Amino acid sequence: MARVARGTDRARGARSARDWDGGRHRGGGELDSLSAVLRLIRSGAAETRQEIEAQSGLGRAVVAARVAALIKLGLVAGGDLGPSSGGRAPRQFRFNGEAGHVLVGSIGHTSLGVGLSDLSGRLLVEHHERSGVDIGIGNAIDRLEGLFASTLAEHPNVGDIWGIGLAVPGPVRLAAGRNGTPENHALAAEWVEHPVAERLRSRFGTPVWIDNDAHLMALGELRAGRGDGREELLILKMGSGISAGLCWNGQVHRGAHGYAGDIGHVVVEPGGPLCRCGNSGCLNAVAGGAAIAREAQRAVADGRSPYLVEVAAQGRDATAADVGMGAYRGDAFCVELISRVGGTVGGTLATLVTAYNPSLVVVGGGVAQAGEILLAAMREALYRRSRSLATQDVTIVRSEMGRTAGLVGAAFAVIDDLFSAERLRTWIADGSPAVTDERPAARPATTEAAARRPSRDRHRTTRRSTSAAAVRDR
Ligand SMILES: [Zn+2]
Repeated sequence: MARVARGTDRARGARSARDWDGGRHRGGGELDSLSAVLRLIRSGAAETRQEIEAQSGLGRAVVAARVAALIKLGLVAGGDLGPSSGGRAPRQFRFNGEAGHVLVGSIGHTSLGVGLSDLSGRLLVEHHERSGVDIGIGNAIDRLEGLFASTLAEHPNVGDIWGIGLAVPGPVRLAAGRNGTPENHALAAEWVEHPVAERLRSRFGTPVWIDNDAHLMALGELRAGRGDGREELLILKMGSGISAGLCWNGQVHRGAHGYAGDIGHVVVEPGGPLCRCGNSGCLNAVAGGAAIAREAQRAVADGRSPYLVEVAAQGRDATAADVGMGAYRGDAFCVELISRVGGTVGGTLATLVTAYNPSLVVVGGGVAQAGEILLAAMREALYRRSRSLATQDVTIVRSEMGRTAGLVGAAFAVIDDLFSAERLRTWIADGSPAVTDERPAARPATTEAAARRPSRDRHRTTRRSTSAAAVRDR
């Protein structure tokens, strides 16, 4: 389905390949400067050649050449006359987000989301449903694959899919020195029998980026949510489990192995409730959504919460989200429980805020729906537990993007990497990073094209075999 209506893309790809081929052997500096110029235009930080020159430090001729190359690739449109400051009006360039599209997905414990994004991170469509790994990882992947296929069927004119970004719960191990690139995701042990990346790549013919959901939510919030315009923020995801995501210098801080922010199994109440990990008193076991749901169900049995008894009377088990809604409506049991959860999480937050000194903390995930009662308890605990200047200057807000944040973050994880100099090198001669098996046959049958073919196919083979190796290593 991803392979319909591609004629013009393919033609453009072949053309741009020739244009760029002339310079591809002149060293990596060209790709570094191409990536830098593209980054300035994508972010809107620079719109004219003069602004690009000033902000990149690149010379006039280099900027002109890079902008011309980006226009030929279809990534930059331009040339509208901007306001003049006396002399000739400068031409304004803008990023062409519609040059390609990215499929994005988010698998939670009790939620599943899919979307279709353009290259500017704008979601053309998104869909969320109650599903996720609690119905079995294999079933959740089947459902995700089906939703991706129907999304593409409903949008036959989007052309090549440039990549798939996927947010998953739990830690995702990255190979040292690399960020969320397709080669290096290794999921938690329970995913070993479910090679999700390999399945999606072979079904949709495009590379797959996978990262932890809190990391991607942080990236989504930074670029398009509460953190828009900032360079750093901390997100606290309060879903079935609790985890944190940190963005620094405009990028996700993943840590040495990808595990940064995996705070759910830090013991906050020694000797407390037993956790799934075997330890007692982990943050998840005390304040995670699953723990809240268990307390809610006990309150139903004891008749301690009129609101939750009402929920149970509808024939379903009370969830953490119900407790949040109960607190919002003033149910005394729910208010007390959410305040206690906020206090516990706020204590952990005090350590994180003191260590990292973010200016903004965004609280997301299903439990965050409890709103101001939760945030007030978190703030109170934060200030009580740490008198650091860092905690005095931090703002704590609830996510406005909600479950959209993970999808948008997944899109940016793909897009940012595709436009890095290192990744550009692997696809720029093809005009698009989409792995299209039928493309070789569609190339112009000229000697010149045939001469270039081996090197392009080598790029592709490398990408596939390393991806397959990563899957085997899991
Ligand atoms: Zn634990």
